[in-house]
Amino acid sequence: MSTTIAPEVLKAAAAEFGTPVYVYHAEKIKEQFESLKSSFSACDVRFFYAAKSLTNIHILKYLSEIGSGIDCSSINEVELALYSGAKPENVLYTSNNIHFSEIERAVELGVHINIDSLSNLKKFGEKYKGTYPVGIRMRPNIMAGGNIKIATGHDKSKFGIPVTQLQEVLDIVNTTGLHIKTLHIHTGSEIKDVEVFVKGLSVMFELVPHFPQLEVVDLGGGFKVPYKPDEKGTDMELLGSSVAEAFKKFEAATGRHLQVWFEPGKYMVSECGHFVTSVNVLKETGDINFAGIDTGLNHLIRPMFYGAYHKIDNISNPDGPLKNYQVVGYICETDNFAEDRPLPEVREGDLIVIRNAGAYCYEMASNYNSRFRPAEVLYRDGKLSLIRRRETMEDLLRTQLF
Ligand code: PLP
Repeated sequence: MSTTIAPEVLKAAAAEFGTPVYVYHAEKIKEQFESLKSSFSACDVRFFYAAKSLTNIHILKYLSEIGSGIDCSSINEVELALYSGAKPENVLYTSNNIHFSEIERAVELGVHINIDSLSNLKKFGEKYKGTYPVGIRMRPNIMAGGNIKIATGHDKSKFGIPVTQLQEVLDIVNTTGLHIKTLHIHTGSEIKDVEVFVKGLSVMFELVPHFPQLEVVDLGGGFKVPYKPDEKGTDMELLGSSVAEAFKKFEAATGRHLQVWFEPGKYMVSECGHFVTSVNVLKETGDINFAGIDTGLNHLIRPMFYGAYHKIDNISNPDGPLKNYQVVGYICETDNFAEDRPLPEVREGDLIVIRNAGAYCYEMASNYNSRFRPAEVLYRDGKLSLIRRRETMEDLLRTQLF
């Protein structure tokens, strides 16, 4: 049975910390991690949680505590991961279009690095030669992912070095003596189809013979989790056995043993997050019932950014008669969270919970309309603890000069 959080706990969080508030359920994160480990038990595997999905250092610390590595998308995330107590050997920096100075800093910090451009690979080779084993982010030219904005491996994507530029990569490696330890791909997010991962893996296997020092194939993140009721996520058991089988065959054919790495973000933290908001205003106009809540796209942009679906519950009136609502925010932009969504009757003051609010929610929050970013709370071992306070006017003014 999946780990859930009781409405009473969310009500208690709202009463103690106010709304809107993000509540994260630690045991749910652990459950996801355990399920990953069990699905891939037949592989020589390591998992690096994609910190970009939720970087609160208490979350990073918890992930390290339960045995996960941490994958970072910026040098600041690397610094945060180390600050949270992660050891450099458990931190991976997979960057995109960054200045070379960030890579130099990552070397100083001693973390694993995946490089995603010929330009930075050349600079790296010229500076470090074979002294610092490094990974290359390749672009497999595979179209995959929930929508085009989160598809990253296709042939028009800015991410990675296209596999068609293999010769340029090899020229750099041969002239500088680079030690290539890892080949990396990340084809996109919300990939349900197991075959996409298997296809990506076979593209990587074709490249392996060119890299005699290779130890790792890193398949990135992108596992799909259910957002809609009755929706299915990636079949992790099937994925685990398919990947194990592919590695077994590869090893038998080539005599080379490789480790597989993954960088799951949504899979680890999407479902642990519950965004508790309350209803400011009800408005009936024509045939639309607006439920205006005390948040907006400044706190959770996914519906307006990607057209993402989030399940919404009215935990104050769960048995009320169903009515259709347009759940909207308080920002001076159109900021719908849901349209024509059946909900138990909503009253002003009711607590409305937006689900799957762990990944890419707080993390993409802003101060648009000069609103404060919300508080974050961790629910662990039956206790609620504040892990980030709500912002105040001082926070808005802190970086402005007088
Ligand atoms: N790894 C890399 C390089 C990414 O860019 C991302 C997200 O886009 C991830 C991992 C995590 O993806 P997801 O949250 O879909 O698992």
